[in-house]
Amino acid sequence: MTDLFPDKGHDHGRCIDSALHQAETVAEANNARFTDMRRRVFTLIWQSHKAITAYELLDALQGEGVRAQPPTVYRALEFLVGLRLIHRIESLNAYFGCDMPDCEHLGQYFICRNCGRVAEAVNEDMSRAVRAAAGAVGFKIEATTIEIKGLCHDCAAH
Ligand SMILES: [Zn+2]
Ligand SMILES: [Zn+2]
Ligand SMILES: [Zn+2]
Repeated sequence: MTDLFPDKGHDHGRCIDSALHQAETVAEANNARFTDMRRRVFTLIWQSHKAITAYELLDALQGEGVRAQPPTVYRALEFLVGLRLIHRIESLNAYFGCDMPDCEHLGQYFICRNCGRVAEAVNEDMSRAVRAAAGAVGFKIEATTIEIKGLCHDCAAH
């Protein structure tokens, strides 16, 4: 078993620290400003490994005493998605933090329907199969999202 879905007792502070560190590096490399609002939204998304919706983010911000309007949150989300620091789960209309923003990858998301956690896999065989299938019909891929729903190993065990 890999640590795609980290153990419940893992040191999540380290996940947040490393995500923030990577995000700063990526923003810098892109000459993009990691403003306060962007950082707040990013940190909130990384509060857990679950996908979070824009409205939940808005609630959380207001809970922190930040008077944010929906467009502000959407702009921050757009920025983070644009730098591929976070990904959008289309089927849930929710966002989660990417833990490998510095390398190009097709999204393959394992979504636990019980605990709501999302894990991202980079399976080269799957990517190759998608590219081959597209190539065979002359289709130019612009974005790929593969969303796989089920139960993570913790939830499946109970
Ligand atoms: Zn974690
Ligand atoms: Zn990713
Ligand atoms: Zn689960």
